Amino acid sequence: MAFVISGKELAAAKKAAMTTEVENLKEKYGRVPHLAVILIGEDAGSVSYVKGKEKACLELGIKNTTIRKPSSITEKELLEIIYKLNKDAFVDGILVQLPLPRHINQTSVINSIQVDKDVDGFHPLNVASLYLKQPGIVPCTPKGIIEMLDSIHYDLEGKKACVIGRSNIVGMPVAKLLLDRNATVTVVHSKSNHIDQITKEADVLIAAVGKPRFVTSDMVKDGAVVIDVGVNRDSVTNKLCGDVDFEQVVLKASYISKVPGGVGPMTISCLMENTIECFLKHMEEKND
Ligand code: NAP
Repeated sequence: MAFVISGKELAAAKKAAMTTEVENLKEKYGRVPHLAVILIGEDAGSVSYVKGKEKACLELGIKNTTIRKPSSITEKELLEIIYKLNKDAFVDGILVQLPLPRHINQTSVINSIQVDKDVDGFHPLNVASLYLKQPGIVPCTPKGIIEMLDSIHYDLEGKKACVIGRSNIVGMPVAKLLLDRNATVTVVHSKSNHIDQITKEADVLIAAVGKPRFVTSDMVKDGAVVIDVGVNRDSVTNKLCGDVDFEQVVLKASYISKVPGGVGPMTISCLMENTIECFLKHMEEKND
């Protein structure tokens, strides 16, 4: 039976430390970090993710402004909002909740966020920094996944890692971070053949597919470390579930994360961390 890596508990411990840090920052700089979140439309998932981010800011003492706009907003209007936030010296981080309505070009919106306020780490310059191993903002979910592996003191060097999914948000950046830790990484996707044969070889398996219980126990190596990124609704119970068949895979893996309570809370705590990082950079620049 695998040990369950609790993202919820890890995130709670990080939150406690960050709360103290924010108090100290307020004393030192006279203000706290400020995260601006833009929510377009009323997609239930997006509304709930934004609520989670607002709650985390409140708990940590980080200032949060959420700008809510109807899905009829034009791209030009949205870009104008971002332009103003870019110019506002009292805003440290800008997050546009994705996905955006179809009539808005997501790439244009991401590219319009000032790179030093891009708390999601999705701006092309932050992406380039990640791939070139230069300082920059690391995307929250991949960062949280690596912290979960670090929490069990897992040495990735020389290990076979398999990432299922190649999105710019999760799959590709987490593969790069695993490679940076000297793992031998294979990324599989919807066009890959014989995925089970590849996953069965993996010492570390990261599932970021977006398909309920996609990873079954016959796809997992004995004693593997399995991190479940997926957030899905079970079609029968309507409850949240991951990409991994937890009940079966927990019997085969050595470590496993759960949904909910796994990667999700780590993503939010890394977002808070990135906001503090952007704030500190702004304060340093001001003092230069
Ligand atoms: P995405 O952009 O939809 O990417 C899904 C990836 O899975 C794609 O690369 C796709 O391949 C691959 N895929 C789809 N069907 C497959 C199949 N049958 N076999 C192998 N690969 C397959 O999703 P995402 O943004 O990366 O998110 C993945 C999951 O993580 C979702 O459930 C999402 O809600 C969740 N998520 C959770 C958090 C969190 O904080 N917990 C954060 C972000 C995302 P192709 O490239 O070939 O299409």
